Formats: sequence, structure tokens, C-alpha cells
Amino acid sequence: MNKTCKQCSKEFIVEDDDLAFYKKISPTFAGKTFEIPAPTLCPKCRLIRRMIWRNERRLYKANCNLCKKDIVSVYSPNKKFKILCRDCFWSDKWDQFQYVLDYDLEKPFFEQFKTLMKSSYLVNLYSTNCENSEFVNQEMNSKDCYLCTGGNDNIECYYLESCIHDTNCVDCYGVGFSEKVSNSEFCTVCFSSQYLFNCHMCHNCVLCDDCTGCDHCFGSKNLRYQKYHFFNEPLSKDEYFSRVGECLKNPEQLEKNKQRFSEHKLKYPYKYMLTISSTDDCSGDVLMNCKNTAKSYYCYKTENTKYSYILDSMKDVMDILSTGTGELCFDCASSSNIYGSCFIDACEKVRNSYYSFNCTNCHNLFGCVSLNHKEYCILNKQYSKEEYERRVGQIINHMQETGEWGEFLPISNSPFCFNETNAKEHFNLDCSEAKRIGSCWLDKDFSSKYSGPIYTPKALSNYLIGENPQAENEIAKCLQGVLKCKVTGQYFKIIPQELVACIKQRIELPTEHPDQRHKERLAKFNKMNLYSRQCMCEETKHGHNGRCKVEFETTYAPDRPERVYCESCYQKAVI
Ligand SMILES: [Zn+2]
Ligand SMILES: [Zn+2]
Ligand SMILES: [Zn+2]
Ligand SMILES: [Zn+2]
Repeated sequence: MNKTCKQCSKEFIVEDDDLAFYKKISPTFAGKTFEIPAPTLCPKCRLIRRMIWRNERRLYKANCNLCKKDIVSVYSPNKKFKILCRDCFWSDKWDQFQYVLDYDLEKPFFEQFKTLMKSSYLVNLYSTNCENSEFVNQEMNSKDCYLCTGGNDNIECYYLESCIHDTNCVDCYGVGFSEKVSNSEFCTVCFSSQYLFNCHMCHNCVLCDDCTGCDHCFGSKNLRYQKYHFFNEPLSKDEYFSRVGECLKNPEQLEKNKQRFSEHKLKYPYKYMLTISSTDDCSGDVLMNCKNTAKSYYCYKTENTKYSYILDSMKDVMDILSTGTGELCFDCASSSNIYGSCFIDACEKVRNSYYSFNCTNCHNLFGCVSLNHKEYCILNKQYSKEEYERRVGQIINHMQETGEWGEFLPISNSPFCFNETNAKEHFNLDCSEAKRIGSCWLDKDFSSKYSGPIYTPKALSNYLIGENPQAENEIAKCLQGVLKCKVTGQYFKIIPQELVACIKQRIELPTEHPDQRHKERLAKFNKMNLYSRQCMCEETKHGHNGRCKVEFETTYAPDRPERVYCESCYQKAVI
């Protein structure tokens, strides 16, 4: 089915398996099935709409509406939401049914839902079961962490994004099951390493790309189970330590070698997509243990999935953003443990629910906000099962007339402005473009002002107690000092835990604001666009005459400098 996107006016195709999926998950109420219609937005605009509902990193000072204590919150003060601290939100200090609405068939559904959101209590940050980690958001089961987002089960980690089961890691994206790793992306089971990209089971490595099972390698690409390699050249142990020592001597040397590595790695082939243990029917990028996962990115353990981004353990789903564990869901975001639900956001342990926000341990909800342990509610009002089904049927009939049924929660209802959300990081719309699609733009700067002395971080050797007599003095100065980002001029501080991690793991101190570090991390990945390309391999021993004929879809744009290989040529090239 060919359609024109209502938002960007581009043509897009609704494939047959998409239509079959919409049919499969269409709900039945009081004996009548309400079909989910084909989408009116293209896959990219649908992703943007979901992302506009997710603010991971913009945090504001606030006060809890009940206990009045100082908290941080994802909601900017000018939005005037009723924010509660986690303790109050999860307490019985307030009545979940204190604000409910009777559905009004004269008004659009989304207008009524917006009213409910404005009146309901919302929790300040989205973190579940986290301990001593006041500033983490969209994080689960983490302990002693600081400014980690979108991950779970991390311990003593700082500035991580979408990382799982890590210990003592700093400044990473998509790193899992690793320890003492910093400044790295898309790595698993790595230990005591820095500046790695797509490396697995590597120890004591620095500046490596696509290496597996390596120990003590530096500036290398595409190595398998190697030791003491320096820019892909094998060295004796002594020679290796002497050269690496020179490279890591000070921040200037490190910077030089980063530059050298960025040129060096282009001499080696790149696989057309980053996949590990995934089936051939997958497309997109960064897929691990995935089956039949199409046009999706950053997925782990997914099956029969399409148009999705950052998933963990999901099956038979489409159009899902940043969600872990679930089945038979469509167009949902920032949730966990969800089953048979559509158009929900920030929900946890929710079944058979639609158009709901920030609900937990619930089933059979329609248009609800901030409910816990409830069932059969519409706009937060309790009904019997029969009455619920009858009324939901009426509402969907009404929403079919208004064109609301089948659409995700609208951009204009989002509690966030475009430039506060994940959408801004991946889709660079400006203020007027953001407003054109119904979003808003936050101009006001709520950050605290500073005009005092600036502390400039020194080379790591200055902070090593035992090696430098001034170290204790320097550590104190660093922790009291305010630093200025060398790129953006934004002020920031180094927290004690972070400095300890730098010293223990021999990492140079950051000279850039966490936001700038985050921005540079994102710039390292390919954008979420797929290009049809041909394998660039011209090697003679692979069994193809001249250039390999295999075609594939890749996130490497045709004008990129990397030599991009099909799976088979790549496997032959790296062994
Ligand atoms: Zn579009
Ligand atoms: Zn409170
Ligand atoms: Zn090939
Ligand atoms: Zn080849």
C-alpha cells in the first residue's frame, strides 16, 4: 500500500506484513474488533513523534508537590505539571482517583487526555529500583550511578547511555556486561579498556574498532584473539608497553594517536551492518541476538520486530522506542514489561492498555495517567469490566470519526519541547520546523549562572598520589573547581566518584561538558538511514571475479570513506 506521510509529505510503503500485523493486534471490545488502521505517518515521522515524548537528559530543579523537598525533574518549570518526588509518588499520601474525567463525546479524545495529564501527579524522573542514584533517568536496577540514562543493572557508573550490566564504566553508549570501560560504544564483555567501538571480550585495549577476544591491543581494527598489537602490528610485550606508554603519556599524545587511528582504521574493511548472532533476515544496524528484526536499530534479543529503536527482549512488536521486555505491542515508547498494548508511554508492567502514560502494574486501561495496580479504567475513572468494554467501544468509534484512532499520543500533547527530547539528537529540526509538526521550543535557560574562577584540568599524572607530591592538593582543587567546556564554554564539575574512576583506571580527566561528550558519541554512529549498496570487495581469493556482486542495505551512505563489505567477504577478510 502506497501512502503519503501526513507530516513530511513523503511517499512511503505500508508492506503486507505490516498490514497483517495491524490486523493481528487489533483489539476486541464487547465482541467487536476495532481494526488498527494503516499509519498516516511514515516510519521516520512515527519515530520522531515517539521520541518527542522522551526527555532523557534535560533535568531541572523542582519541588515535590506534596513534601516540598528539592528534587530534579524532567519537566521544565514553565510547563507547570504537578511533580512528585519518587517517595511521595509511590506512597498512599494521595488518592489515585482524585482527578478523573467522564469521557465527553463532543470533544476530541486527545484534548481530554491532555487535561488529565495536566491535572494528574507525575513522577519527577523515570527510574525504577535504583539505589543511591538520584540523577539517573529512564534507568532500572542501578546502584551508585550518576547521570546514567536508558540502561539497567549498572553499578558505580557515570555518564552512561543505554548501557546494561556494567560496573565502574564511564562515558559509554550501548556497552554491556563490562567493567572499567570508558569512552566506548557498542561493546560487550570488555574489561579495563578505553576508546573502543564494537569490541567484544577485549581486555586492556585502547583505541580499537571491531576487535574480539583481544588483550593489550592499541590502535587496531578487525583483530580476532590477538595480543600486543599496535596499530595492527604484532610486537613483543616489552616493545608494546614502551610504545603504548609513550602514546598515553599525556593528553596531547593521546589526541595525536586518536587522529592517527581515525586514518589507520580506514585501511580495513567494515561490515555492512553491525550484527552479532542475528539471522540473515534482519536489517538496520547494531542488532545482537535478533531474529527477523527489520528496519530497526540498537536491538538486543528481539524477534519479529520492525521499525524499532533501542529494544531489549521483545517479540512480535512494531514501532517501539526504548522498551525492554514485551510482546504484541504497537507504537509504544519508554516502557518495560508491556503486553498486548498500543500507544502507551512511560508504562511498566502493563497489559491490554491503550493511550496511557506513566501507569504501572495495570491492565485494561484506556487513556489513563499515573495509575498503579488498577484495571478497567478510562480517563482514570473506574468501571466494571462490561461497562469498560462498552464505553471503550464508543470512544474508539468516536476516535475513528475524529481521525485519532491508530495515532500515537500527539506531539502537541507531549510534556516536552522538541529541543529537550531525544528527537532533537537524532533529527535536527530547527525551531520553526519543530513548531510546524506541533512541537514547541524551549528558549528559556534554567541552568544556574556562574561567573567565578575556572579550573583547568591537568594531565592525569598530577592527580596520582604516590607519584606526585602535589596530588592531594590538586585533587582538592579539581573537586572544588568549576570547569569550562573547551568546545562549548558551558560550565561543569567533576564529581568525586568520577575523579576516583579516572585515577584508578588511568583515564585523562574530561575537558568537555557531559552534553558535548554525549553529542560527540552520537556523531560516531551512522544515522538511521538505509542505503542500497553493493559490496566493495575486490579481493581475489574470495571466489568472486572482480568486484563482489552481493547487494545489501547499509547505514553507510555512499559518500562515506569506509570500504563496506558483505558478510561473507568481511568474514573472509578478518580471519
Ligand atoms: Zn514522514
Ligand atoms: Zn515528596
Ligand atoms: Zn562481498
Ligand atoms: Zn570478497
